[in-house]
Amino acid sequence: MKTLLHGGTVVSGKSARRADVLLDGEKIAAVGRLGAAETRGAETVDVSGCLLFPGFIDAHTHFDLDVANTTTADDFDSGTRAAVRGGTTTVIDFACPEKGETLAHGLRLWHEKADGRCWCDYGFHMTIDDWNAGIERELDDMFAAGITSFKMYLTDPAMLLPDRALYEALSALRARGGVCGFHCENAGVIDAKIAELKAAGMADKVFAHPLARPDYLEAEAVARILRIAQAADAPVILVHTTNRESLAEIEAARRRGQTVYVETCPQYLLLDDSAYYAPDWAEAAKYVCAPPLRKKADADALWRALRRGDVQTVSTDHCAFTPEQKAMGRGDFTKIPGGLPGVETRGELVYTGGVARRMSLSLLCRALSENPAKLYGLYPRKGALAAGSDADIVVYDPEADRVLHGAELASRAGYTPFEGFETSGSIRSVYLRGALAVDRGAVVGGRNGQYLARERCAL
Ligand code: MN
Repeated sequence: MKTLLHGGTVVSGKSARRADVLLDGEKIAAVGRLGAAETRGAETVDVSGCLLFPGFIDAHTHFDLDVANTTTADDFDSGTRAAVRGGTTTVIDFACPEKGETLAHGLRLWHEKADGRCWCDYGFHMTIDDWNAGIERELDDMFAAGITSFKMYLTDPAMLLPDRALYEALSALRARGGVCGFHCENAGVIDAKIAELKAAGMADKVFAHPLARPDYLEAEAVARILRIAQAADAPVILVHTTNRESLAEIEAARRRGQTVYVETCPQYLLLDDSAYYAPDWAEAAKYVCAPPLRKKADADALWRALRRGDVQTVSTDHCAFTPEQKAMGRGDFTKIPGGLPGVETRGELVYTGGVARRMSLSLLCRALSENPAKLYGLYPRKGALAAGSDADIVVYDPEADRVLHGAELASRAGYTPFEGFETSGSIRSVYLRGALAVDRGAVVGGRNGQYLARERCAL
């Protein structure tokens, strides 16, 4: 079946131009000024006045994850339904082996969680929280299974690898053309600060959370992994980067000639740590995530870095908990499950913040779709509106402003950290591989998401 999206403005990483888009089955057949012969038999959909983006890619989600003695509120069913509602047609979630288990075990586990349940396409990064000869041998199996990006944590003492292992893992990945993302926060000093804050009687204060995890302890871990990556001559991805101190370390590494990819998230661009000082404990606890929200000046610096291309991608770190789950941390801020819902709102938030700062549509397209597609080996199947690409399309109406309300969102979190946020425009409809998945804001697709075996990084 053919569909013609007529009258819209097609956005790419390079331009925004009036063009028609012809969908044929799951693929885009043609883009441009299309003649009658080409479009014969196609159903025409009028998208005049709308922007057409390649389907958004959220390369940082945590669905159906057991963490902090509970399980995330969103599994792959509700999480990907929320994703597609927000224009995200591909998510890349973090597969995670149980401690002491093989990577193959982690991959099997994540397929069990995801297969047959997803409303959008999906891939996995693989978490490496142990390093030995067996795991190194397994890397080849991971690449064969379409997993070309990995993740290591510098923050959690239980997952922290010694420097030698970090170096060897980065070297092994580099040799295979893989890339690795890092959660950068200093593990040991944060633990000491938590103990000090509790001893000072602040266990029941949500604002003890950001006090225990200051910006410079993120920057310390950024600097350390960048030096280890320098030794291994390996590229790194710094996920959920939050602050000026970290950006300065990244700039220094790039001046040395290192390849550093940087991700940030809407919460770090649009919120700040005043949220933790809300007089109502439950309200403040809604914002607990790691790294924590920072200062307004950090958010401004992230927007500037995004504009310069120094930050290449905006993902969400979607890790949703209900207010009831957050309440597990009453009396002990370290027991508040860390993470925010966000997979559904990223596109509209970044668009709104971006146009308010006079960023080009192309730049927003790169941050939301094209760059993650290239970075994670999906381009040009994903991340492009071009003949031969998957027909994943976001139809964005720049005039249809709306106000975000958690109660109206698909996530099972039941709230949004952006309650009351006024968007510039909104998503009208979404196509997933040629099939209408969202129509006038309502999810109309099904659990048609496919697993994506990914190629190597091409950014
Ligand atoms: Mn994360």
